[in-house]
Amino acid sequence: MEVLDRFRRPLANLRVSVTDRCNLRCHYCMPEQDYVWLPRTNILTFEEIEKLVDIFVGLGTTKVRLTGGEPLLRKNLPDLIALLGEKPALTDLALTTNGILLAEQVGDLRAAGLPRITVSLDTLKSERFFALTRFDNLPTVLHGLECAAGAGFDSVKIDTVVIRGMNDDELVPMLEHGRALGAEVRFIEYMDVGGATQWSMQEVLPREEILRQLTSHYGPILPVDEPAVAPADRFTLPDGTVFGVISSTTQPFCGQCDRSRLTADGLWYRCLYARTGTDLRGPLRAGVTQTGLRDLISDNWLARNDRGAEDRLASSDRSTLIPVEALQDEPHLEMHTRGG
Ligand code: SAM
Repeated sequence: MEVLDRFRRPLANLRVSVTDRCNLRCHYCMPEQDYVWLPRTNILTFEEIEKLVDIFVGLGTTKVRLTGGEPLLRKNLPDLIALLGEKPALTDLALTTNGILLAEQVGDLRAAGLPRITVSLDTLKSERFFALTRFDNLPTVLHGLECAAGAGFDSVKIDTVVIRGMNDDELVPMLEHGRALGAEVRFIEYMDVGGATQWSMQEVLPREEILRQLTSHYGPILPVDEPAVAPADRFTLPDGTVFGVISSTTQPFCGQCDRSRLTADGLWYRCLYARTGTDLRGPLRAGVTQTGLRDLISDNWLARNDRGAEDRLASSDRSTLIPVEALQDEPHLEMHTRGG
């Protein structure tokens, strides 16, 4: 049964956060000194996640991405991958990681059947990596990425958040690095999501500027002729190298947004910008039947009319989305809790 929301968008794509913890403190995501963490007893077990995923799959979900926080911090993650990998209706299972723990875990992830992986990497310069993440371990990430590239995944991608004045001089080196590894690079516009308390429009490098910079280096760039697949618009360099741009800030894709997010403690959000979500953990642990949970999810999806990124684009005074105090009161508003 496929459910469609009020703009006829399917419930196709679920991002499952397996932990709110992270081992980096990226400037654009976790810039504060202290964070309020989710209580451990609230964190869903793998069996609980599987039960919920089954219900989502029954409502038309075909894609699941495991994320966080940093998903590789979750103990025994390959067990969850193996559970989800057994579901034929899930045609796309992927994981997004910062790469710190990748080298040591990549073999287990592959052995568990993970087909696709995305590594977040914003710079190839050590000092800059430290400034961006507050950890001095770029070589560890680069080694993890290299191991992933050699591990036989169906696809390895590199996600790069581009910030003006921070790493906007690394578009070409990042593409070259990705090309050498056989990994498709996707440039992400800096977003004003919860957690990005230092955000300003001046620091956003819009898609048009990204393309202009790459065109002046490589020559004419062509859009890939394919049906629009949110979130990335894909392009080809003259030599055939493909890359993507995710322009959620200046050209949002709300019209095609089929994604929702399940936090590690079982709150379900239907828009990255939504202030409230639906508690699925409570009913699940209270013994509500599968049918009851399915109705709860489908009723909420049928009522969905969120177009959060477009609303932000239309707002006249675009500055930080949520004040730090509000994030501390309600950590679910944080990107690292909601699942990026
Ligand atoms: N720890 C994992 C990782 O680093 O890939 C998964 C979680 S992280 C929140 C997921 C993605 O969200 C990363 O690629 C990160 O760069 C991106 N992200 C976080 N805050 C962002 C922001 N303000 N603008 C754009 N992308 C952001």
